[in-house]
Amino acid sequence: MKQYKTIQIEKKVPESIICNCCGQKINSTKQHPYPDYITIHKIWGYDSPYDGEEHDIDLCTDCYAKWIQTFKIDPRDRKEAEDV
Ligand SMILES: [Zn+2]
Repeated sequence: MKQYKTIQIEKKVPESIICNCCGQKINSTKQHPYPDYITIHKIWGYDSPYDGEEHDIDLCTDCYAKWIQTFKIDPRDRKEAEDV
C-alpha cells in the first residue's frame, strides 16, 4: 500500500517569447489578449545538413505570414499538400 503526500514541483514556463525572425517580443495587446505564434522544434538527423543539431524557432504572426508567402504550396491548402 502506498501513502501519498502532496509536493510542489518547480516548472519552467516562458516569461517572454521573442520572434526569431524579427526579434520583437510577442506581446498581448488589447486587440489580441492571447498572442499567437508558431513554434518549431527540430532535432536534425545525422547525415542531414545540420547533423544532429537541435533548433527551436518561435515566429510571430507577421513573420509567419511573410514566410508562407514564399511557399509554393500554401499551408492552408490541405488538399494541395495531400496531392503532392
Ligand atoms: Zn516576427
